[in-house]
Amino acid sequence: MAGEFSFIEKLRQRAEGHASLTLGIGDDCSALQVPDGHELLTSTDLLLENVHFRLDWTNPHDLAHKAVSVNVSDLAAMGGRPLALYLGLGVPRSFGAGQLDLFVDGLFEGLADYAICLAGGDTCRSANGLVLAITVQGHCRIGQRVTRAGGRAGEDLWVSGTLGDSALCLRRLLARQSCSTALMARHFRPRARLALGQALAEEGLATAMLDLSDGLDGDLGHLLRASGVGARVNINQLPLSSDFRAHLARQPELIDLALCGGEDYELLFSANPQKRADLERLSQRMPLPLTCIGQLSAASGLQYLQADGSAYRPTAGAFDHFAD
Ligand SMILES: [Mg+2]
Repeated sequence: MAGEFSFIEKLRQRAEGHASLTLGIGDDCSALQVPDGHELLTSTDLLLENVHFRLDWTNPHDLAHKAVSVNVSDLAAMGGRPLALYLGLGVPRSFGAGQLDLFVDGLFEGLADYAICLAGGDTCRSANGLVLAITVQGHCRIGQRVTRAGGRAGEDLWVSGTLGDSALCLRRLLARQSCSTALMARHFRPRARLALGQALAEEGLATAMLDLSDGLDGDLGHLLRASGVGARVNINQLPLSSDFRAHLARQPELIDLALCGGEDYELLFSANPQKRADLERLSQRMPLPLTCIGQLSAASGLQYLQADGSAYRPTAGAFDHFAD
């Protein structure tokens, strides 16, 4: 792409160092040194225009910031500490220089928010739509990473923050309805729960964990399969924001957005019931709501229970980018 080298030079000049980055942008590879006794965590993500985002709704600044957050969220889900981010960028002709500048501003704001450094990447002209390929690396002490596979029957199931706000925002925008600034923030400016993930891992509080990107229903299914357990979830205990509750009072079916909506970027984790007091204290310290929504069970399958004990089945499936 024209100006590719000047664009990369612009990024290189703004990229800040990191104690672990021994060689940054400008050579054939970057080089990182992981602290003694730690292991490297790596996650990668592809974001495509008109599949994962729409440029007529999202400004380039928010888009870049969100792209950093959703990738850092995967580090949070393992209890990792951020090290480096690599950006692959395909830019269509329709994406002008002014939009690219906004994108770069949002990118560096996101990097600063999570103290993660830009350590490399590549850029070219895209024939069709904006393409973002992001890889993040972090580290954690060997033995402290929290996978999806550590859940055991009888443990509590917890979730951070509130559920369904991002999906409710998207649904209202799709229907050309107004949306509160709080709901808009949850959709366009999600925050990775990095400090929480680190605390849960380093203090040995979570036995299994993941971040909620595709919706509680689908993501909890991943945790249950990996851990070889089932779960009962009490839907009257789902943490909901005041905005979400106000809409829910008029449209009870919206509860399915809290179950299946996606893009919450909260942490879902299992914990020994003996850790309840520790988790309450952690919630106050963060400060961030942590809510016990149910229990893992020896019986396979995922069951949703209503306040009266009857079973509930959501009508929408988990959000699927490739579903028509
Ligand atoms: Mg994830």
